[in-house]
Amino acid sequence: MTRVTGNPHLIKKINKSLVLDMIKSQGPLSRADVAQRSGLNKGTVSSLVKELIDEELVYEIGQGESSGGRRPVLLLFNEKAGYSIGIDLGVHYILGVLTDLQGNVVQEKRVTFHNKEYQAVLALIKETIHDLLSHMPDSRYGLIGIGIGVPGIVDKAGTVLFAPNLSWKDVPLKQEIEAAFHVPVIIDNEANAGAYGEKRLGAGQEFRNIIYVSAGIGIGVGLVLNGELYRGTSGFSGESGHMTIEVDGPPCRCGSIGCWELYASEQALLEGAQSLFATEETVSLETLLDLAEKQYQEVVQLFHRIGRYLGIGINNLVNTFNPQQVIIGNRLSMAKQWIEPAIQQVIASHTLPFHRANLNIHFSKLSLYSTALGISFFVIEDFLKKGEKVEVFL
Ligand SMILES: [Zn+2]
Repeated sequence: MTRVTGNPHLIKKINKSLVLDMIKSQGPLSRADVAQRSGLNKGTVSSLVKELIDEELVYEIGQGESSGGRRPVLLLFNEKAGYSIGIDLGVHYILGVLTDLQGNVVQEKRVTFHNKEYQAVLALIKETIHDLLSHMPDSRYGLIGIGIGVPGIVDKAGTVLFAPNLSWKDVPLKQEIEAAFHVPVIIDNEANAGAYGEKRLGAGQEFRNIIYVSAGIGIGVGLVLNGELYRGTSGFSGESGHMTIEVDGPPCRCGSIGCWELYASEQALLEGAQSLFATEETVSLETLLDLAEKQYQEVVQLFHRIGRYLGIGINNLVNTFNPQQVIIGNRLSMAKQWIEPAIQQVIASHTLPFHRANLNIHFSKLSLYSTALGISFFVIEDFLKKGEKVEVFL
C-alpha cells in the first residue's frame, strides 16, 4: 500500500475536493481567496478550478472588490449541475424530495399508504421516484443518486434487516432501487438521516453534540457526536426506541417488552386516543391537534402524558451523552405546543444538574423534511467526493 503522502494523484483529488467544498460553502470567492484560505499555491488553485469549471461544478461570475489592480473574477458552486432524490419512508407515508446539489427542494411528492407489505410499498417508492424525475430540469449530470431513510436497521449493503413497524425483515431495498434506476443508492436509518439534515440545514447547525429524537409511529435516535454522525460498529446505533423503560411492560414488535416507543410515540398517542374515545377507528394526529386546540382537556392531558414519557427517555439519553442539544423531530414535533412543557418538567426534575447546565431542548427546524433532506445530502456528498477514496489502496 502506498503511503497517502506519497501519492500525488490522491493528493490532487483531496485538494480538488477541498477547493470545491470551499467554493460551495463560502462562495463567491476569487482564486486568490481560495489560495489564501486553503494554503494551496495560486498555480495549483488555478489548475484545480479549471478542472472544476470544465466539469461544470463551478462557474465564474461578474467581478469582485478590487484591492487596487484588476478586479478578480468570482467563483460560484454550480448547484444546478445535477439533482438528487431523498425519500423519507415512514410507517404510513412516503415523502420524496428532488433537490439540487445545495439541498434546495425543486419538487416534492407525498403519498400515504396502509398496505405495508414490502412489494406494495416498493412499487409506491418507485412511483414516487418516477414522479419526481418527471419534474427534473436538464443538467450536466442529471440524477446523481437516490437516498432512502427507513424506519429500521440497515446493514452496509443497504439491506433492511429489520423494520418492526413495517414488519419487514431482510429486504434488499438498495439492490432493487439500483436495478430499477441505474444510479447510486444509499439506504440509511431515517433517524440518522434526520439528525444529519438538522445538523446541516436545520436546528443543529451551531451544535456539535446533538441527540436527534425522531418521534413518529416508532422512535429512532440519531447521534451527532463531536460534529460527526455516530453510527456504531455496524451502523445500528440509535435504536433507543427499544430501550426498556418498564420492566414488566407490554410486548413490543421488536420482541422485547416495555420499550420506550410503546409509551412516547405517535402510535402510543393514537392508541391512547382510541381508548379515550372508545372507538375502533384510527384517530389521526392532526385530529388530536385540532381537538387540543379546542381545549378538549382529555386530549390535552393525553399529549401531556406522551410528552412526559418522551422526557423520561430523553433524560436517560442526556445523562448518558451529555449533549448540548436535543432536537425533537418527525411527526410528534407538530405537537410542540402540547408536549414541550411536560418534557421540560421531566428534564428539570430528573436530569442531573451538571448535564442540564448547557442543554438546549429544541424542536426540528426542517419540520417533516429532516430525513428526506438529510438522506439527499448523503447522496450529494457521495457524488461530490466520488473517486477520492479509490486510490488509497494502490
Ligand atoms: Zn421494542
